[in-house]
Amino acid sequence: MSSHSAIKFIDLHAQREKIQAPIDAALQDVMSHGQFILGDEVKQLEEELKTYTGAKHAISCASGTDALKLVLLTKDIKVNDVIFVPSFTFAATAEVVAELGAIPYFIDVCPDTYNLNPSSLLAGIEEAKNKGLVLKGIIAVDLFGLPADYPALQSIAHKNNLWILADAAQSFGGAIGKKRVGNLCDMTATSFFPSKPLGGYGDGGCIFTNDNDLNDLTRSLRAHGTGADKYDHIRVGLNSRLDTLQAAILLKKLDIFDDELARRQHIANFYAESLSPKFHVPQTPDDFTHGFGLYTIRCESQQQRDALKAHLNDNNIPSVIYYHRPLHKQVAYEQFPQVNQKLPVTELLCEQVLSLPMHPYLEDNQLEFICDTLRQS
Ligand SMILES: *Cc1c(COP(=O)(O)O)cnc(C)c1O
Repeated sequence: MSSHSAIKFIDLHAQREKIQAPIDAALQDVMSHGQFILGDEVKQLEEELKTYTGAKHAISCASGTDALKLVLLTKDIKVNDVIFVPSFTFAATAEVVAELGAIPYFIDVCPDTYNLNPSSLLAGIEEAKNKGLVLKGIIAVDLFGLPADYPALQSIAHKNNLWILADAAQSFGGAIGKKRVGNLCDMTATSFFPSKPLGGYGDGGCIFTNDNDLNDLTRSLRAHGTGADKYDHIRVGLNSRLDTLQAAILLKKLDIFDDELARRQHIANFYAESLSPKFHVPQTPDDFTHGFGLYTIRCESQQQRDALKAHLNDNNIPSVIYYHRPLHKQVAYEQFPQVNQKLPVTELLCEQVLSLPMHPYLEDNQLEFICDTLRQS
């Protein structure tokens, strides 16, 4: 029998043990001062997030989905306008587009990075133009924590007069060169859902931008479209503020974030050394820093993947399939267009990928056990 403790896919409990005292004290402070909506902790968190990411503005809000939506609300989107999105992602990426009556136009991803494929995007742009549609923008996803190829995407966007919104829900802490996620693109949305790299104890999200107008607009929109004062409404907005209690928690989690990120990177290196070449391990292009929100390997076939998942389960090792079914094959999204009417890489990945336990509190003896179990399969 193994001597390690129970392995969790993501271990929020271990993290809580480490920072319980400062978090409890911070929560007590909020309950004492009583500014539950847009209290000082929210402002302080926004300041610290600006410093951390290098972005000029950080606008916190109620969720990662709302962060995406708030940006889209500033973009004058009309019914049937096209926004290019990957299909190999969480539903929120396409949901915010469809909800506004626009068309999420599905693009394929790269087989090595799992992020938007620039040549598939180019094909999608041609195709959508030929259909006479109005093209507005692109939502690029930093899947599993790896930043999308923003330099390549930006040159395509620029030539075609499109904007890019980064869906960085899984990649806080990632970077390209010395620039961190939040400052890789004109507009970035991230999530503080509990299981994300920087997660609260409930829902939360944030927009990052260097654009002063976008800052003003999204701040107004997140609080009912307010103008100069609280009861002056100059546009139709929504209620999407980050709770002061969540901000207080996130401030304490940000204090240990770099240590956690380093630990995630250690774990990723450990996995890569033990599992390659038997499995395809995540590839990080030169100059990119992977945030390792998730650690996802790829098998040779669906049969091998499913057998592997069962074998891990028999050994009490949790694993999850992100994503079992691409968005273009989901009931809510199957009517929307896909480039070339088929996304072969996305479909193959859905059959072959498997995400392994990844959190900063995985111990080396647990990692050894996971890797031994995988190698025996
Ligand atoms: C989690 C996630 C979101 C949504 O974030 P919420 O905070 O849960 O609303 C959006 N996009 C991607 C890629 C995600 O993983």
